[in-house]
Amino acid sequence: ELASAPVDDATAVKVVVRVRPTVSRPVDGKDLFFVRKTSPCTVAVGDRSFAVDGFLDDMASQADAFDLVGAPMIDIALAGFNASLVCYGQSGTGKTYTMWGALAAMVDSSSDHADRGIVPRVIQNLFAHIQGRQESSPDSQTSYQCRCSFLEVYNEQINDLLDPSQRNLQIRENAGNGIHVENLTDEYVSTVEDVNQILMKGLSNRKVGTTSMNLKSSRSHVVFTCVIEAWSKGFSSNGFSSSRSSRITFVDLAGPDNDELDGGRKHCTREERHVKKSLSKFGKLVNTLSEAQVTQKGDSPHKQSCLTHVLKDTLGGNSKVTFVCSISSEHRCRTGTLSTLRFGERTK
Ligand code: ADP
Ligand code: MG
Repeated sequence: ELASAPVDDATAVKVVVRVRPTVSRPVDGKDLFFVRKTSPCTVAVGDRSFAVDGFLDDMASQADAFDLVGAPMIDIALAGFNASLVCYGQSGTGKTYTMWGALAAMVDSSSDHADRGIVPRVIQNLFAHIQGRQESSPDSQTSYQCRCSFLEVYNEQINDLLDPSQRNLQIRENAGNGIHVENLTDEYVSTVEDVNQILMKGLSNRKVGTTSMNLKSSRSHVVFTCVIEAWSKGFSSNGFSSSRSSRITFVDLAGPDNDELDGGRKHCTREERHVKKSLSKFGKLVNTLSEAQVTQKGDSPHKQSCLTHVLKDTLGGNSKVTFVCSISSEHRCRTGTLSTLRFGERTK
């Protein structure tokens, strides 16, 4: 059954749990344990209960995920605020599927492919809204301009996914402008196709590694940002045109590996160590979000890893963040599932 209430927009941080269907291999009832919704805002695993804002069970479609998580982001962004979505969870639990969908579905020009993930749906709906607003009131004097960037954090280094020759980019921070990644490609887009091209290009440049759970599991964190600039005479009292910008950010995190599945494997590659370390810093930062007391100066918790630093404006300030915590209901993933649910609970 689906969470019926859409994510409430009043609070800054939301947590939605999505359970991945066991599609990869036949499973027997005894290989599964059940994650169930016990109230509109709690899910339970055995006798342990976790507070959530929404729940997508293993029958939930990509359209359901968009309705619950993606659609509210468009409203937030068009109202002039920043909205972000972060997919968190063990490798192989469906983070990339939830975020982008099956790649084949993204290039499908029919644009109503059932497997499309939240990002292409948000983009399509965002452009439709913008166009609708302009057509319904052609004299409203508001015009929109969007631009996109796409980066990965791999082994504590920022790479431009839209220009693979640009590696190890530096983060600049200035008082008025916030975080800025120097030399990162910023492409102006005016149609849904422009954005789809960017997505395809960026995703194909992403670093992937191998794990026993998912052969193309990613070893990098990726951040896709779409900035929406609205130009309007209405925003200023003196009648001159002025602009207001808001950002939609999508963060597809690398997953911590499932050590249980790797048969007690002892050595850890350099990539895995970086993934572990950055996720641990990320988790610590997220813990402070609910306390709303991240200091502006001094030992900012953001500076401790490349991932948290680049996400500084995304996870704090006036951004509304939704975490999709993806889990599997297979017994062999139990430890990872519980740790993902604990992560979700800590953000609240
Ligand atoms: P992650 O990014 O968390 O490592 P993926 O998104 O790559 O995981 O998912 C692993 C595999 O499971 C992929 O083949 C993906 O297409 C499939 N998958 C994940 N979630 C779903 C879902 N809800 N429905 C159908 N297939 C899914
Ligand atoms: Mg992935």
